[in-house]
Amino acid sequence: MAATLIAVGSAAVLSGCGGSADAADNGKLKVATTVAPITSIVANIGGDRVEVTGIVPEGTNSHTFEPKPSAAKLLSRVDVVYINGLKLEDPTRELAEENLSDGAEVVELGTKCIDEKDWIYDFSFPKSEGKPNPHLWTDPTYARCYAKIARDDLSRRDPENAAYYKANYEKFSTMVDELDAAMRTSFATIPRRELLTYHDAYAYFGKTYDWKIIGAIQVSDFEDPTPKEVAALIGQVRSSGVPAIFGSEVFPSPVLKQIGKESGARYVDVLRDDDLPGTPGDREHSWVGLMHFDYVTMTEALGGDATSLKAFQQRDIAPDQASYPQ
Ligand SMILES: [Zn+2]
Repeated sequence: MAATLIAVGSAAVLSGCGGSADAADNGKLKVATTVAPITSIVANIGGDRVEVTGIVPEGTNSHTFEPKPSAAKLLSRVDVVYINGLKLEDPTRELAEENLSDGAEVVELGTKCIDEKDWIYDFSFPKSEGKPNPHLWTDPTYARCYAKIARDDLSRRDPENAAYYKANYEKFSTMVDELDAAMRTSFATIPRRELLTYHDAYAYFGKTYDWKIIGAIQVSDFEDPTPKEVAALIGQVRSSGVPAIFGSEVFPSPVLKQIGKESGARYVDVLRDDDLPGTPGDREHSWVGLMHFDYVTMTEALGGDATSLKAFQQRDIAPDQASYPQ
């Protein structure tokens, strides 16, 4: 009799937990993510069927970010952690690996979307330091791949909602097609697609969309370049004749301002690579809002016509209930 009771009790626990590590919860799959654009992409696929919590606060330097010890508690409770990879979030990955519960895993969305032979090393991310340029998500064709990996992984962990994740992915993919077409139409109107930025976030984008990346001036230790390097960049901007150069919201750059002043190019300091526009709850506070903002800004500052991009309809694919630390 006692043995029967124990068996019944175990079966109830097994069937009630639905793959989640925590039985006393809402039953939703629990997901941790790192930077806000990845949080948004995952939320587009997971919608209200998953609980998504970002770890890297918006507006911080994600390249040097170290999670607080308190993040260990969150990581011990989640079913999966979606990170970019390409060595962007090594401290967070290590903390996750130390704290994840049985069956939970770290999934590197970016690393799964590109062969190592196609990793880009450059001025800000030199090969000698071993960390490639990690910014795949500013290229919508890679962001679509992140969404696909998230769809497949969520479906494997939570098969009951697989059709929902699939439908969301299809809507997301259609939106990426529309964005891609609008970008190409607008970019075709830019007299010279040449980009000098402070933060080096557009290397893969440049390759896909046929932009010449003149350079990015943030050096690998996130300090300023030397006066000699600055002088060389001023010369390069002058001879290229680009009308504008771009700084970033997260990394104010007096040096880039100086390069603008001395080269005669306008200094536009509002680009973003992982700090979403607006605040959580706003329509534009999303990966697609970020892309739209950056590419309208670049097109207009370089003398192009952004009509197509402005006509593009950015939208939430699924209810975004993710938590974005600020
Ligand atoms: Zn970055």
